[in-house]
Amino acid sequence: MTGATTPDADTPATTTPAGQVEAWHGARALPAGPWRSGHQWLARAACHAPGVDPGWFTTDEDAAGAGVLIAKAKQVCRGCPVRLWCRIHADETGEYGVYAAETHSERVRRQRAWRQAADAADQQAVGA
Ligand code: SF4
Repeated sequence: MTGATTPDADTPATTTPAGQVEAWHGARALPAGPWRSGHQWLARAACHAPGVDPGWFTTDEDAAGAGVLIAKAKQVCRGCPVRLWCRIHADETGEYGVYAAETHSERVRRQRAWRQAADAADQQAVGA
């Protein structure tokens, strides 16, 4: 894109020395967080600690006895320092398993509810 941009109504404009209007002057780049360049956050994952069985996190939700193993996985997640990044990863990838103290089916239900809420908000915004 070239040339000046037009700020939206809520964003005060500033002008560069070259005379261009910067609509997004208030926006900041995200800090160089773990999500920017890969999966370094996994190095801090509580599920990688000694004594934690990775199998707890990939238990088939419908398997006999799954509830006990999933509960163990969720307990680990609740103390995990990278839980937010993990949730973002799970939301983006749709991978099966317990991520951020949420099973796959729980995640699917949450995302469906969010989409429905967003759709309802959009409908309300356009006055439908
Ligand atoms: S939130 Fe749970 S699944 Fe995600 S990295 Fe932490 S311990 Fe592992």
